Amino acid sequence: MERVYNFSAGPSVLPLPVLEKAQKELVNYGDAGMSVMEMSHRSPAYDDIHNTAVALVQEVMGVPEGYSVMFLQGGASTQFAMIPLNLMTKYGSADYIDTGSWSTKAIKEAKRYGTVNVIASSKDETFNHIPEIPPVNPDADYCYMVSNNTIYGTRIAPDRLPQTGDVPLVADMSSNILSEVYDVGKFGLVFAGAQKNMGIAGVATVIIRDDLIGEAQECAPTMLRYSTHVEKNSLFNTPPCFSIYITKLVLEWVKEQGGVPGVQKINEYKAGLLYDYLDDTDFYQPTVANPKDRSLMNLTFVPKDPDLTKPFVTEAASKGMVNLKGHRSVGGIRASIYNGMPVEGVKTLLTFMQDFEARNK
Ligand SMILES: *Cc1c(COP(=O)(O)O)cnc(C)c1O
Repeated sequence: MERVYNFSAGPSVLPLPVLEKAQKELVNYGDAGMSVMEMSHRSPAYDDIHNTAVALVQEVMGVPEGYSVMFLQGGASTQFAMIPLNLMTKYGSADYIDTGSWSTKAIKEAKRYGTVNVIASSKDETFNHIPEIPPVNPDADYCYMVSNNTIYGTRIAPDRLPQTGDVPLVADMSSNILSEVYDVGKFGLVFAGAQKNMGIAGVATVIIRDDLIGEAQECAPTMLRYSTHVEKNSLFNTPPCFSIYITKLVLEWVKEQGGVPGVQKINEYKAGLLYDYLDDTDFYQPTVANPKDRSLMNLTFVPKDPDLTKPFVTEAASKGMVNLKGHRSVGGIRASIYNGMPVEGVKTLLTFMQDFEARNK
């Protein structure tokens, strides 16, 4: 079977050159005589991969001085606990912006460790927009947001970040990191599970402003303290070496595309192709009405006749476009078009959507 166009929300499509490079280096990395999967994490060969990956995060994301980069395990979900355990230390309280299932999960977890104020939510309209964000509480240890809502297809665009003053802004960027330019300097902490836009499952990247590392809550286990990992350059224990290696390859690929600004241009073009059509036709309806709230990565829409959802997904799959079914909690159709999805894949989907409309109108 040929490679398909994989519109999965995560784990998701990787740039083909990344897979090919990994394949070439799989059995024997450089002149190490072994695979990255077999290497000691204390070996010079791995050390080079690790430090290159850290340096590439700094370079490609424009991480300012005074921030540290970590590669951690436990996925993005472990950050739901690590953030309050490490940051809810002065006032024991934080503000959360509730824009979907992932923020809801983070809120639930944070409540174990302190007071959570949900200052804005779009829950009553099934998260189909980004809510108005009021000023934060001055005695919040941080303000938490999700930059891209994978399930609902909304995003808080780089120019619409909440203004939090001295309160550190924390962002879950799992599903749109490296997709468009966010100014890391505006955040106290940014994190992302790699398996959507930055690599494969097994590693989460965390970028933290150094003054926030500090002392964690007394109960925090050693492995859940940022200080543990920053002090050891993410080598306190065995890191997920192969996942970090793939992240390095992805970052090298992003650089070759003109960095994040280059990738952003392509992403705006890809998303524009589909949104323009969705706004034009009344056969389908985009689920996010306000263009400013729309995700560039996860595009959600429904056929006007909901009974056509299933045939749409099935027919698309038979034509090599897979995983277009919306998340089980919302239904409809979701096309996840991460960095690794080629323009050709989006054009193929667009043609199919037009054809499907013509045949089912
Ligand atoms: C997928 C996802 C997560 C969960 O990631 P895991 O690595 O599976 O824990 C968290 N936040 C967002 C925005 C996601 O898309």
